[in-house]
Parts: sequence; C-alpha cells; structure tokens
Amino acid sequence: MAAKEETVEGKYVYDFAEGNKDLKDLLGGKGANLAEMTNLGLPVPPGFTITTEACKAYLMTGREPDGLAGQIEAHLESLEREMGRRLGDPDDPLLVSVRSGAKFSMPGMMETVLNVGLNDRSVIGLSTQAGGNDRFAWDSYRRLIQMFGKTVCEVPGEEFEHALDEAKHAKGTQNDLDLDADDLRALVDAYKKIFAKHTGREFPQEPREQLDLAIRAVFDSWNAERAILYRRQERIPADLGTAVNVVTMVFGNLGPDSGTGVAFTRDPGSGAQGIYGDYLANAQGEDVVAGIRNTVPLQELEQLDKTSYDQLLGIMARLEEHYKDLCDIEFTIERGKLWMLQTRVGKRTAAAAFVIAGQLVDEGLIDLDEALHRVNGAQLAQLMFPRFQLDHDFQPVARGIGASPGAASGKVVFTSARAVELAAEGESVILVRRETNPDDLNGMIAAKGILTSRGGKTSHAAVVARGMGKTCVSGADELEVNVPAKKFTVGGHTVGEGDVVSIDGTTGRVYLGEVPVTPSEVVQYFEGELDPETTDDPLVRAVHRIMTHADAARRLRVRTNADTGADAARARRFGAEGIGLCRTEHMFLGDRRELVERLILAGGGRERDEALAALLPLQRADFVEIFREMDGLPVTVRLIDPPLHEFLPPLEQLAVNVAVAQERGEDVAKEEALLSAVRRMHEENPMLGLRGVRLGLVIPGLFAMQVRAIAEAAVAVARDGGAACPEIMVPLVGAVQELETVRAEAEKIIAEVVGDSGVDVLIGTMIEVPRAALTAGQIAEAAEFFSFGTNDLTQMGWGFSRDDVEGAFFWRYLELGIFGISPFESIDADGVGRLVRIAAEEGRAARPGLKLGVCGEHGGDPDSVHFFHEVGLDYVSCSPFRVPVARLEAGRAAISTTGSDSR
Ligand code: PEP
Ligand code: MG
Repeated sequence: MAAKEETVEGKYVYDFAEGNKDLKDLLGGKGANLAEMTNLGLPVPPGFTITTEACKAYLMTGREPDGLAGQIEAHLESLEREMGRRLGDPDDPLLVSVRSGAKFSMPGMMETVLNVGLNDRSVIGLSTQAGGNDRFAWDSYRRLIQMFGKTVCEVPGEEFEHALDEAKHAKGTQNDLDLDADDLRALVDAYKKIFAKHTGREFPQEPREQLDLAIRAVFDSWNAERAILYRRQERIPADLGTAVNVVTMVFGNLGPDSGTGVAFTRDPGSGAQGIYGDYLANAQGEDVVAGIRNTVPLQELEQLDKTSYDQLLGIMARLEEHYKDLCDIEFTIERGKLWMLQTRVGKRTAAAAFVIAGQLVDEGLIDLDEALHRVNGAQLAQLMFPRFQLDHDFQPVARGIGASPGAASGKVVFTSARAVELAAEGESVILVRRETNPDDLNGMIAAKGILTSRGGKTSHAAVVARGMGKTCVSGADELEVNVPAKKFTVGGHTVGEGDVVSIDGTTGRVYLGEVPVTPSEVVQYFEGELDPETTDDPLVRAVHRIMTHADAARRLRVRTNADTGADAARARRFGAEGIGLCRTEHMFLGDRRELVERLILAGGGRERDEALAALLPLQRADFVEIFREMDGLPVTVRLIDPPLHEFLPPLEQLAVNVAVAQERGEDVAKEEALLSAVRRMHEENPMLGLRGVRLGLVIPGLFAMQVRAIAEAAVAVARDGGAACPEIMVPLVGAVQELETVRAEAEKIIAEVVGDSGVDVLIGTMIEVPRAALTAGQIAEAAEFFSFGTNDLTQMGWGFSRDDVEGAFFWRYLELGIFGISPFESIDADGVGRLVRIAAEEGRAARPGLKLGVCGEHGGDPDSVHFFHEVGLDYVSCSPFRVPVARLEAGRAAISTTGSDSR
C-alpha cells in the first residue's frame, strides 16, 4: 500500500482506515500501527486517532483547537454506526478506551482511561450485553471511576486502592475475583464518594464529557514530570506531543474463554527465533501490568483456545513479514474472538539487535544496508564491555559520571605506587583518587578500574581510562576521599585500603563488595580470540557480518589515539587504519621526569641542551616502537602540549617540604630552585597559558628535539626494511605565524635527518583554538593537514573549563534543555561544529587536498561521527576501544541518507 504522507491542514482526527504505519509523526506509533493493521485486514477494534498536531495546539494555547470537537463528534458517530451501539446508550452502550501514543514509545509514561461511556444507567445495559453478567459490568464501572479519577482529576490513587482493600477485607479475601456484583456495586458508591470529596463534583455521567476530559488528560500527560524525565533520558524531542487513540473496548475479563496477552515474534533479549509471550485468562491488560495474578507462557494458550492461538501465530508471522522486523504485540481474546490491540517494531537488547538483523538478512527480508541501519554504535559499545551480573541484591552507595564504560571489582588503593604493588601480587585493584594527574599513569595501568570524586567526562582520569579501555567512574562527589588517611567515606560507610568495591563505568554506579563480572565475547572476537567463521555464537557471527559491511560502505577512515606500542597494537586489531593522535606528554613522565626537571631548571645554554640530548634517544625509541607497530600506516605525533609545570611537584606540597627541611637545617638548594621555578611558572588559567605551540616557541630546542626524534625513528624503521609515515602535529595553534615559525625549524631538521631515505614527513596542525578555525584559510598555507581538537575547541568555543563544568553545573543545563547531552561528549553541531565546518571549507579552499581529521573525544561518539562524515573529513580518530564503534557508525553514516529510525 502506498504511504499516505501528506497531512491535511486542520484535520485533527483520522479513522484507523485512513492512516498507515508511516504516519507516526502525526498519529503516534500506536495510532499509525493500529491503522496499518486495520488496513492489513487484521482484527483491530474499530476506532480513530486524534493527531499530535491537535495535542501540540492544545499544549500551546491551553485549549482544544477549533474544529476538533466537531471532528471527534463526526468520527464518533461513524464509529457508533459501524458498531451498532451508542456511547452512553442505557440499553446497549458503546464503550471506548482513550489511549496515549507518541511517535516514540514511552512505556507507562502517559495516560490511558478504559471503559469510557459507563454511567449509572449504561452499567445495567453493559450487564445485559454481557449475558446478564452483573459482576463484570460493575467491575468495569469501578475501574472507570478509579482510572478516570486518578488520571483525569488527580484523585490520589491510594484512596481507591484503600477502598478496594477494605472491600476485600470485609469479605475476608485477598482476591479481587472473590468480590461479587453486590460488593462491586457498593465499591462503586464508595469510589464515587472519594471522587466527589476530592473534586467537589459528582462523577460525570455524560459520556461525551468523560471522553473529552479523558482526551485532555492524555494531552496533559505529555508534560507530566515522569514523561519529561523519560524524554530527556532517551533524547526524545520535547515538542512532538502525543496522539490520542479512541478505541472500541473489547474485554478479556468476560470469563474463562476471554483473556489478554503480550507476544514477541522473536526473543527481544537474545534475538532467538520462536514464540515469546505471556497470557492471562479472564483479565484486562492492566491486571497483567499490575502483576495481580501470574501469567502463563503464551504456548499454553494452545491448550486453552487452539483456534485463537493458531490465528495469533498466523498474524505474528504476517506482521513480521510485513514490518520485516521483530514485532511486539498486545492482544485480547473476548469470548473466543481474537483482537489485536497494538503492535510495533519491538525494543530489544543490544545483542538481540545484531542477532536479529543478521537473521533477517538470512531470511531474505532485508539487505545488509538495512541490517547496518538497524544497529548502532551505542549498542556495539555496550556489547564491548564486561558486565556486572546484577541478579544479586547489590545497592549502589554512590553515583558518579560513567566516564569509561565497563565493570570492575577490586581492592581499593589510594596511590599509584600501591596499585602497582598489589597488581604485581596478582590482585585486582581499584585506584581511588580525588582526581588523577599524569603521575597516576602507572597506577591507572595497573588498576582494573579508576574511581574519582571529582572531574567530568573529559577529566584526566576519564580521557586516559577511555584510552586504555579501562573502567572509570569520575566525579562521584558523594565520596569524601582522604588519601593521606587511606580511606574514603560515603553514606555512612568508611572504606579503607584493601576493602573491595565494584564500579560500573557505564552507569557511574559504585557498589561496596564484589559484584560478579561477565567478559565480552565481542571483544574476544575483535581481539582475534574467537573465529567468526567457526564460532557457534550467533552474536559474534552477526557482529562480524555487519562490521564487514560497514567497512565496505564507509568513506571515513578510522584511526586511533594511542601513545604506546601496546595501545597501537590493540587498536590495529580493532581495525584502526593509523594513529590520529599520539600524545607525547606521557613520554616525559616516570624516570624521565628528572630530565624534564633539569630541562625546566636549566637557565639555558649547555644544561638545557644536555637535558634535551638525554631525552632524544628515549623519545626516538618510543617512536620506533609505535612506527613498527603501525607498519606503514600514518602516525600523527603531536608535539608536547601541556604546560610544563604539570611535570613538577605541586606548589603547596613543595613549599611545605622546603620549609620543613629548612627548619631541620638540611641542604635544600635543589628543592628551593625547584620551588622558585614552580612559583615562576604558576598560572591562574593554565589551560589558556604556556602550553602547546607557545611552549615550543618559548623553550628553545624542545620541539626541535621531538622533531628530530620522530624523523630519526622513521628513518631507522625504513632502514630496517619497515615503513613509517609520520605526520608531525603542532598543538594549540591560533595564528599561521606560530605554525610557520615551528615549521621553518622542523623542515630544516627533517631535511637533514631524512636525506635520501625515502621517508616522507608531513607537518600539520591541530585546529582547537577558535581563532585557528576562523583563519583556517591562512593556516592551511602552512599545514599539510588539520586535525580538529574538539575537546579544546569545545572548551574554548563555549568557554567551559573541561575539567570542572560537567560535575559542577551541567545537570542544570541538561535540566533546562540548554543542551540534551554534554557538548564534550557529542559535538555541538550548531556552534563548535560550525567552527569545524568553516575551517574545513576554508582550509580546503586554500589548499585543495588538505587532509582533514578529528582527534578530540568526539571522534568516537556515534552522532558526532555522522556529523564529521557529513562535513567531509577524511578520518576520525578515537581511543582504541571506540575504533569498532567509529567504523560501524562511519558505515551507517555512508548509507544513511534516509531510512527508519533505529531508536
Ligand atoms: C583536543 O583538544 O581535542 C585534543 C585532542 O587535545 P587534548 O585533549 O590532548 O587537549
Ligand atoms: Mg587539545
């Protein structure tokens, strides 16, 4: 059937026969799919849908749009004609349900009112209709008053519950079904009194008024607090509004030959084929949700009502073939007649998404492009981390920022040194700090996980942990961390060194004690430990197949951010096609720190040259290792970026040490010199201070040493028969003159070192200062490539300190909807993204063929990858663990000009 896409201005009500599944924007998911099923000829109770446009107009103005009331009237009349019953008819009433249904499913977030149309008179007619079943009629009426009172008139639900409990108590039972017609009639009276007490009016007897008020309540429920929260979490836009479905009631509670159930056409947990679902005889949908009675597996319906069961299976097969996807279904059987109340493409776990996409390709229902479209990077990322088995009763004691996903348990340590010691003894450790700094690197490498009480998603701990694929929770500010006392306190608990904690880097949750962990089979596959051709794990087979297709489809190359041979090797196994950012600063730590101190303390001249000369072979060896690992793939080495005082001890600590030593009369000449250097180099805003290219221009010989080390390493690898493709990258450039100065010196050194070795060294720059983006045309004259440093570009574009703001006030910005996600996590396309776009366009205009990449954290973020694809970058670079995610999303970006939503 051709999709009817145009909407008619001023038409607010659509009969089910008028809609189709592609009209979700207008009719909501439920309405569009009820229409689709109606048009497929499936047994759907007749009804109509009030559009999201009507809801939006109502929410904007506080009143129903002109024309809506008349259109509802007309559709109601035609429904009454079709059913041969009238709403409110005392002898043979039509009853309807009023159900919300937005474009994206928001389970349980909005309102539903059943049995609309019942009043003191039609309840008698309903009983006659139901073959003299008084009990059923009065039970339906009390449900209406309860649901209507609670959702439409805000009567506290507990009062109804309480009255029901009292009725059961008086009867000496715990079971609703033991209440007979008289009991329920009395309960209706009690409910009406509760209603009148809270609303100051009688329960409305006029069915049309019931209907109008229920519709209005559904509109209003779009802005209920829980709905707003849910939307924010699921990133559903706030301005979509909900549609309202008015559907003829069918009853699953008319006796043992009636019932209600839910079904899935495949297992939404694992993707396995088969029939999954639950059935509850003699019940309505809300009984299943309320868990009053236990459901039975759907298969048991075969014994209870074979005809309906067979019909349902036939419909499920038909729906799967029609939607070409896993469908979930709600149905009711009314006295042996099956009715479909809802279907939709069902939600599923990340694993099921991959498995089902693979199966549907095998079944010829979809092609590989569509399979790729139906999975996403967030799902793949989820599958790549070890998981906690939280079936046990663990309660989190704190919640921080899920800074680097995964699950880790281990003994708490508070220093890097202790982490290394205990790890060497074979212990799993969690390094707990207020915040980490470059000195903690060894401890971070040794630890299973990192937990900090301060810092956001781009804090040192977060960035480094992600780089290593190590679990990290940052900014858990309920923790009072006391490193000298080797303990932290949280919620009345004190945790000391050696105590075990568990941290979940996906949710940011922190648990006391050991929560068991399951490893990821998908990582085993990427690591080459599971052969996708021979494994019988359907998930691994599906991931392999879809990744292979993504790689074939994508235009963006995917590189990695790696600074060690080990990281580079892992990233290659994960599919990296080069290094987009090798940060050289960690190469200045550990036992090299002393040389760096000498370099900083040297007044200049010979001492400085000696310190640099001592660093040169160490750097060269680092680069040789990385070039060898990358074996001819491009390697972008960034010259040193952070302010040098980061390599010196902290000011306060040093000042105290010196004062104490002086007091004792010790020789403190060296410490004093260090202290005065630290004081001299102290900056109020180090992120905006002497760092990046500024360091290179101020400290003679520093960049030159690095350039020489890179060039010599490349030549050494080439002379050994290997291949090296270095790209030297200058950080924090804001003006072309800065780059030109560095370039002039670098070119001389490169020419001298490279000679006739055949090694080609490119020189380019990061674009991470807004001024650089805005003068990219000039800068491109001196750069063979640009790599967007979107961490700093976001920091400087927004004026947000990247180490502080996420923990400090982003919650408020998210609450106010100023942004839906941290701009440090996903590129702010309108602002920071615009800088990227301008720089890409103007850079390429000045130098056609200019190589463009991104190496900020955004390089591995799914939405950002689509943006970089669209802007026309050549590659994205991200931490090794995110390489598969970036490959998948780059493939999706390449094929996704249109298509369904994989939400
Ligand atoms: C950036 O700023 O995006 C970047 C990659 O550099 P760093 O994170 O090291 O400042
Ligand atoms: Mg930067």
